[in-house]
Amino acid sequence: MFTLAVLACTLGGLAVGSFLNVVIYRVPSGRSIVAPGSTCPSCATPISPQDNIPVLSWIVLRGRCRHCRAPISARYPAVELLTAVLFALTAVRLGATWSLPAELAFVAGLIALAAVDFERYLLPRAILYPTLVLVGAGLLLAAGATGRWTRLGVAGVCGAGAFAVFLAIHLARPRWLGFGDVRLAGLLGLGLGWMGPWYLFIGFMVANLLGAGVGIGLMAAGRASRSTPLPYGVFLGAGSIVALLAADPIIHWYSQTLVR
Ligand SMILES: [Zn+2]
Repeated sequence: MFTLAVLACTLGGLAVGSFLNVVIYRVPSGRSIVAPGSTCPSCATPISPQDNIPVLSWIVLRGRCRHCRAPISARYPAVELLTAVLFALTAVRLGATWSLPAELAFVAGLIALAAVDFERYLLPRAILYPTLVLVGAGLLLAAGATGRWTRLGVAGVCGAGAFAVFLAIHLARPRWLGFGDVRLAGLLGLGLGWMGPWYLFIGFMVANLLGAGVGIGLMAAGRASRSTPLPYGVFLGAGSIVALLAADPIIHWYSQTLVR
């Protein structure tokens, strides 16, 4: 059952990654993710199903359009691979449990949000709200099936708490933190809060360490100044996924080595 779940999540991750590419490419410009079907951005020729197989088609076509030979960004197979790997790791971490679908939706939403934030400094509501609904519905299902309503309550409180803290920072220093990050904090609170409040804490810690590390690195390389904006959503997404997958070993290591 465990092996089956991991395998299904890996293959499902490739397909979901392919869908996320459409979301990342179309949602910020307000276009439909359903119609029309995918076309080559260069010559607008519709992409046939056999040229639309995640990762494989890109390799077979050597990263070029079959018709006009225009290069196709490596971002597409990269997002598909990343989604497949993170889905597989989430399945390994959670096993075939009732909360697996909710956390997979959480991971998928974070990948799309982080990618759009990275490219455009935007966290679109059109991605965030559907993710919130899917994660919420998934957790409701998990609580109903397992009777763990307290855990759902903790997740709700974590979501509301993270939203409130970020809202306070946003109101005090609007230039530090956009309102998109405030909404995102609510989603992180819900998705990580279900695992436990410590997950949320570790997620924010890792996000801020990553952000500080990248900021200092860019400044040292002369590629950024103190006022260069960084897409905080990317770090929040990455930190949350690290927490989801690795908070348990981190907490264990901490309690073993530092707290005596
Ligand atoms: Zn083309």
